[in-house]
Amino acid sequence: MPILPIRRYPDPVLRQKAQPVDPKDPQLPALVADLFDSMYAAEGVGLAANQVGLPVRVAVIDTSAGQDPQARLVLINPEILATSGELLEEDEGCLSFPGLRAKARRSERATVRAQGLDGQPFELEAVGLLGKALQHEVDHLNGHLFIDHLPLGQQALISGKLKQMKREAVKA
Ligand code: ZN
Repeated sequence: MPILPIRRYPDPVLRQKAQPVDPKDPQLPALVADLFDSMYAAEGVGLAANQVGLPVRVAVIDTSAGQDPQARLVLINPEILATSGELLEEDEGCLSFPGLRAKARRSERATVRAQGLDGQPFELEAVGLLGKALQHEVDHLNGHLFIDHLPLGQQALISGKLKQMKREAVKA
């Protein structure tokens, strides 16, 4: 399976709202496999299709980073149904922002509705790393990025790095 190049901030595809897909689309299993391979190659725990340049509502998560096959999660057409619990400010990163970490404000718990590769709808409620990853990946599919969730102090800390990424994108 090919490893797909991951688009970096400020690539405009990262700000596009991804379109729903037909879970029976015969190309989906290959896309999902490519997303997993690309995510593992980049040592991430989640990847959304628009991060590889395809604005469709497909994302994968594996909070075990490849250690536990049971942890592989495929989200087709996911949406956040609810968030609850405390607002946390915890270290977060993103494969579209290599080398950048910042404390993002997220809800402790998230409930997501999605379809699997079999087309069956399911709901999932999670806390901890998975709860955060669900919010992060559904955000991607809505054109939102983790830098949109930073408290002001954190925004100031990374503004230089973001400017540098913009300059590098112009040069590339
Ligand atoms: Zn991300």
